[in-house]
Amino acid sequence: MIKVYDVPHGLSEIIAKYGHPGAEKLDREWYETNTDVFELPVVMRLSWNPTKETRYIRAHKDVGLAIVDAIAEIAWFYREKFEQYNRYGGVFNYRHKRGGGELSVHSWGIAIDLNPHLGRFGSQEDANTYPRAIVEIFKERGFEWGGDWANPDAMHFQACTGY
Ligand SMILES: [Zn+2]
Repeated sequence: MIKVYDVPHGLSEIIAKYGHPGAEKLDREWYETNTDVFELPVVMRLSWNPTKETRYIRAHKDVGLAIVDAIAEIAWFYREKFEQYNRYGGVFNYRHKRGGGELSVHSWGIAIDLNPHLGRFGSQEDANTYPRAIVEIFKERGFEWGGDWANPDAMHFQACTGY
């Protein structure tokens, strides 16, 4: 299993481990040295346009392989049914948090949104019913699950805590 070790807690540890993608706009030098494109072992579909397939994700270089490994195990777990669980909602995306000025953890490429249709932001009901196999597969690789939060984000898995 490929997992993330020494998962950082809080913004200062996140910056110490993963660097800083830029406060106001994306720092291109950080982007070039800290992110990479990873090939997925299976085809996924874009959640915002399921007719489109993708086999590549851009992620932080220290997290991408753990995400790829998690997706490989999810695909193996569901096998013939994987088509129901293969909606890719994004990893690297330089942006600020919903309704706030802080950078989203997606700005570091250390979080993935998976199957947004099953785990809508803010829905406790979705957090209660989101596939537990997917949650466990990510948690055992060191990821925090957004479905555990007071304001749940069940589609979201991140390689940090406390932010
Ligand atoms: Zn997310």
